[in-house]
Amino acid sequence: MLDKKVVELLNQQVNKEFYSAYLYLDFSNFYYDQGLNGFGNWYKIQAQEERDHAMLMIQYLQNNGEKVELSAIDKPGIVLESAKAVLGEGLKHEQYVTSLIHNIYDAAYSVKDFRTMQFLDWFVKEQGEEESNAEGLVKKFELFGDDAKSLYMLDNELGARVYSAPSLVL
Ligand code: MG
Repeated sequence: MLDKKVVELLNQQVNKEFYSAYLYLDFSNFYYDQGLNGFGNWYKIQAQEERDHAMLMIQYLQNNGEKVELSAIDKPGIVLESAKAVLGEGLKHEQYVTSLIHNIYDAAYSVKDFRTMQFLDWFVKEQGEEESNAEGLVKKFELFGDDAKSLYMLDNELGARVYSAPSLVL
């Protein structure tokens, strides 16, 4: 049995991860609409990763005999203003998700739930990578986004991203 509060937060996180998938699918659709198919591809794969995160949380709860409670996923709530602004919103969202993961970690820590802390270690590291990727995109767009040829090349680069399953296996 896991601590009640920890289970509640993990269940909430399942929803947050699905919301992230939904949000990034919205980003992806925005970029495809703009003709930036590489950016669209990048965020479509990002959406798949977020779904994977939710599924890992679900698996962890089930492995520990805990009940999974799914709740309604909000409509993506970010106004997509420009190709550049969306990247900044992506970075802000990842910083927010990091704070959520840290919050669950904190709850596990306070009840000496070492098993959940170990499970969350992967997510702590993953969030570091997510933030660094999102920051990288913001910086690249700042450097190259205003030049058509460079933007074309950047879009091609992002179009080459392929999906790979998460490195965490439960
Ligand atoms: Mg995630």
